[in-house]
Amino acid sequence: MIRRFDSIPDAIKSHYGNAVSILKKKPVHGGDINEAWRLDLSDGSAAFLKTNSPDNLDFFVTETAGLEEIAGTDTLSTPELFGLGTDEKENCSFLLMEYIECVSRNKDYWEEFGRNLALMHRARKDAETGGYGFDTDNYIGASPQDNTRSYSWISFYRDRRLSPQIRRAERYFSADLIRKLDHLLDRLDRLLREPDHPSLLHGDLWGGNVLPGNDGRAWLIDPAVYYGDPEADLAMTQLFGSFPPSFYGAYHEISPIDPGYRSRRNLYDLYHMLNHLNLFGTAYLNHVLSIVERYQ
Ligand code: ADP
Repeated sequence: MIRRFDSIPDAIKSHYGNAVSILKKKPVHGGDINEAWRLDLSDGSAAFLKTNSPDNLDFFVTETAGLEEIAGTDTLSTPELFGLGTDEKENCSFLLMEYIECVSRNKDYWEEFGRNLALMHRARKDAETGGYGFDTDNYIGASPQDNTRSYSWISFYRDRRLSPQIRRAERYFSADLIRKLDHLLDRLDRLLREPDHPSLLHGDLWGGNVLPGNDGRAWLIDPAVYYGDPEADLAMTQLFGSFPPSFYGAYHEISPIDPGYRSRRNLYDLYHMLNHLNLFGTAYLNHVLSIVERYQ
């Protein structure tokens, strides 16, 4: 369980010892939501720090819950978590963790990643009791994700994923598009499948959230976890440019990818495109439109 601290230096000292201090704080670019920093420490090591406004501490509370859930499956590496809290002097909330030094990828990086993701999806930790969803709500980017549990994947995906994003985005939609979206939601039970059991999903598995660590293997960061259909994670790996074929081949050897996945994939893209529309505006409207048309 991650500890809470009243300041960033307190979190540093608790993990590294009282003598250790921050020598340099360098911005790390690439995230959408938080500010990110590499901290060079006086003992020669480096730590990774994310900060946001003090009222957004919940981003970090939920991110750590997700990273801990993934770590609990013993399948894919996640950064060690050192502490979180609110720093009054810096006027920020923060999350301090291990710095992942990206070096080169091992030769079998993608195969191993594919295999281990399939194993994570099969971990079935609380599949029997919990149903689809998660014990706490969290965020996808800066948008809230309602993880209220359901024993039906399709109901969960409709009521807790698509519907809230559609309601939020209504100002962008014509009456015709709203009708088509309603039509799509009504037919979702014929378009999607009920999987055998709930699987732990990363929830935001685009390429930027997988880093090669100093062991040359894939590490997961910045999840939006919940228990769902693994096809939702697979779809996200293909949304902004696919991972290499060797990744999918290795995944398939552990957990065969159902041939029907290809026809369902874009319904999982729809959630993320609606979320992008809500977060970043009209540049994503055409992608939403094209998915909705495909399933009429
Ligand atoms: P956001 O929550 O704002 O999307 P990210 O978690 O994606 O931020 O991180 C922002 C940047 O920091 C990305 O470029 C990412 O690759 C990098 N990063 C994230 N976690 C670590 C880490 N533990 N060590 C090193 N770099 C990291």
